[in-house]
Amino acid sequence: MTDNAPLYLKPNEDRRLRAGHNWVFSNEVDIVKSTLSDFTPGAPVTLLSHNGQFLGHGYVNPHSLICARVVTRQRDQPIDGSLLVHRLRVALGLREHRFREPYYRLVYGDSDGLPGLVVDRYGDVVVAQITTAGMECLKDLIVAALQKVIKPTAIVFRNDTSAREMEQLPSYVETVFGSCPHTLAVSENGATYWVNAKQGQKTGWFYDQRINRARLRDYVRDKSVLDVFSYVGGFAIQAALGGARSVLALDASAHALELTEQNAVVNGVKDIVSTRCADAFEALRSMREEREHFDIVVVDPPAFIPRRKDVKAGVEAYQRLAQLAMQVLSRDGILVSASCSYHLQWEVFHRVLTKTARHLDRQLQIIETGHQGPDHPVHPAIMESAYLKVYFSRVIPTF
Ligand code: SAH
Repeated sequence: MTDNAPLYLKPNEDRRLRAGHNWVFSNEVDIVKSTLSDFTPGAPVTLLSHNGQFLGHGYVNPHSLICARVVTRQRDQPIDGSLLVHRLRVALGLREHRFREPYYRLVYGDSDGLPGLVVDRYGDVVVAQITTAGMECLKDLIVAALQKVIKPTAIVFRNDTSAREMEQLPSYVETVFGSCPHTLAVSENGATYWVNAKQGQKTGWFYDQRINRARLRDYVRDKSVLDVFSYVGGFAIQAALGGARSVLALDASAHALELTEQNAVVNGVKDIVSTRCADAFEALRSMREEREHFDIVVVDPPAFIPRRKDVKAGVEAYQRLAQLAMQVLSRDGILVSASCSYHLQWEVFHRVLTKTARHLDRQLQIIETGHQGPDHPVHPAIMESAYLKVYFSRVIPTF
């Protein structure tokens, strides 16, 4: 047994952990037996039920609503460098099994047994993101483990996500090892994308949409395509390579669109792809007024519901967006609608789309649904790990 400090849960509050989940909320801790405020943020702890039964080893942060997370359920396993190396090897095994090239999310937090850590791989460069104090304390060991398992030429930490505020962690971007070029190439679905790992969104690229981008190719031959919230052209370039007649990439970020244009050149589709820098809602409204139409509209916005309390406003935003997207769709056009908000449940998203269609006196034929890719495996007990939802639907006049 390790010599971590004990963290006792209240009676019955061990149920979630026993069902396989990793998180402990601060109101579930028995603060008489284990005073939360006495713990150092990030310190290792042994989680115990109220009567002292072993639940797992993990780490604590008294400042956070999720005040502890389980890292291992093996009594004799300390949270150390060899655990990290082992978990990385297990994670790598899945990715090497599924992908021929080293471009993927290598570590997806809880699902890969490393709560609070995300690692994206761009060939020889790895870009990591830590979101908890517990993982921050392990940072040097993470670097050593990555060097041992991956042997990268550079390791960058994009520790500037807002999730860190909840753990009272500072925001910073740091290259801890080697040197990371200004732009990095991603190879995906036969396309090459240049991304900016240090200044781009998240770690520079959204690997989660890989399969859905590939699926889009089957729909686009000779079609006009609008890619709303295009970022650096994830869907737009695929559409062009799939034989689209024209593709318009729309995003509010001029920097993302510069990369989109570069990516169009790199992939030999610069005559097909054009860009427009604008707010998506305003641009869609003016397209509707100008009666501009597209055969296929892809809508992949940022999370409109980052927290549970944002559900109402978020659902309204998804609804407004769906309506605008349907209004610029040609007759019998295809709408690809994505949501990366965990808090927007499938049924609710489904209802948003069908209600919007009905409101416009149209109806949907749902052709397929899409999920996050295999480098974002779902932890079966942590529903929060399944967040990406995509509907491919045809929008037709009501029967
Ligand atoms: N579809 C992309 C990922 C989209 S990420 C892909 O496949 O990789 C979300 C994008 O929305 C970002 O590029 C961000 O710049 C853009 N964005 C956020 N708010 C916006 C708004 N109001 N109007 C237009 N673009 C916006």
